[in-house]
Amino acid sequence: MRVEVAASHFVAGKPLDDPEGAPIPTLYPATGETIATLHGATDAIIEKAIASAVEAQREWAALAGVERGRVLRRAADIMRERNRELSELETFDTGKPLQETLVADAASGADALEYFGSLADAISGEAKEFGRDFAYTRREPLGVCVGIGAWNYPIQIASWKAAPALACGNAMVFKPSEMTPLSALRLAEILVEAGAPAGLFNVIQGLGDVGGKLISDPRVAKVSLTGSVPTGRKVYAGAAEGLRHVTMELGGKSPLIVFGDADIEDAIGGAMLGNFYSSGQICSNGTRVFVERGIRDKFVERLVERTRAIVIGDPMDEAVQMGPLVSSAQRDKVMGYIETGRTEGATLEIGGNVPNIQGFEDGCFIEPTVFSGVTDDMTIAREEIFGPVMSVLDFDSEDEVIDRANATEFGLAAGVFTRDITRAHRAVTRLQAGTCWINAYNLTPAGMPFGGVKASGFGRENAAAAIDSYSQVKSVYVGLGPVDSPY
Ligand code: NAD
Repeated sequence: MRVEVAASHFVAGKPLDDPEGAPIPTLYPATGETIATLHGATDAIIEKAIASAVEAQREWAALAGVERGRVLRRAADIMRERNRELSELETFDTGKPLQETLVADAASGADALEYFGSLADAISGEAKEFGRDFAYTRREPLGVCVGIGAWNYPIQIASWKAAPALACGNAMVFKPSEMTPLSALRLAEILVEAGAPAGLFNVIQGLGDVGGKLISDPRVAKVSLTGSVPTGRKVYAGAAEGLRHVTMELGGKSPLIVFGDADIEDAIGGAMLGNFYSSGQICSNGTRVFVERGIRDKFVERLVERTRAIVIGDPMDEAVQMGPLVSSAQRDKVMGYIETGRTEGATLEIGGNVPNIQGFEDGCFIEPTVFSGVTDDMTIAREEIFGPVMSVLDFDSEDEVIDRANATEFGLAAGVFTRDITRAHRAVTRLQAGTCWINAYNLTPAGMPFGGVKASGFGRENAAAAIDSYSQVKSVYVGLGPVDSPY
């Protein structure tokens, strides 16, 4: 099976290739088949991408916000019209089941384009009087921004970065993850179709070295990365060298706290969503599930029953709820964590194996896995696994669980399940996390800021908060005279 790709890159409004670039094979994770082979960007491609972005940005920034917004909203409409085709592409590239990609990937990208398309006209400065004088501010674009994506939500990540960047009058060069290079190319095509000038949103392929070259180019004003903490450290250091703006959306090991008074079925549903959706490859997943001791046995019993019912298999079958992981390397890494969980003494309640799925013998599948009896010092409770592995930990008091939840270098997200409204708000006030959910998990509407604290990053995606990450304020003082000078 092959996926038709016009060219490896999309630069200056058109597909573009340079076969000199290192080959990047793209595999369908459900079967291991190569579905496309792209090329990494050569220096000539990188140059063309940045130069065309510089040019397009001037033209774009001169438009009124309402005109920029119109293009973004049109792009959102086209994305929705093509949702099925984009979802199938995303499923081939990531292995995530169509049941998910149909509702969570291009659909969420379209939401961001629509949201920032509607906001574009409202992006403006303020005015303030100072006696007879006054001052006003202008909210100006940064210039050319670089976006670098992870492989778990390729078109969503590209759209979440492009939408606020373009709404503010910037241009963008986007480098998808080398694991999932396909769908960002489609976003680039759609933006041109919607009326964006050629060069406004370029997509170039490559590994970390291509990302590194983009970041160190003096014409680049900002970099927004979605990736792991170790990559974040490198990209942040590279950006610091050129004093560039940064947004860092990094990894997590988020706590999900279930108090004894919670609606237990809802809490189990939230914990499953926050551990098994996208085969557990979600940065904000609540992978440390703290359950109050009094309800712990009942919680684990029902959790195991409901986990057993998960349908795993052919991602293109819409009845299938769980597909493979993105690659065999990721599957092996996650299997290594499962083995460590066993040897460090956690109780394996269910899963833990590579399932045998007829016709998909070479796929990167892992059964949804639940460990109970996990303690804070175990590796599976400390490190980001990025696979379908849930750790259940017991707790006795609110103070204790909040301290334990916060005892991590990460701070991306947190969840609380309880019927006690006072306790819910008290708990989220004390939790060190950029995004918290009460009686819900992993819902990320475009109108709510999303991002992390501590090692999970800084800057926010989505909502009006993202405007701060893609614009800068110019202050203009207007003297109405006479000039009060001592000379
Ligand atoms: P990764 O860090 O390996 O790679 C991310 C991107 O960075 C890729 O495009 C890669 O090519 C690029 N890259 C690698 N080295 C680079 C360098 N030196 N300079 C510039 N670019 C470089 O991450 P991944 O494995 O693709 O994704 C999984 C990670 O992403 C997890 O840690 C996950 O938590 C995180 N993530 C975070 C969010 C969020 O919003 N906070 C969302 C999704 C994923």
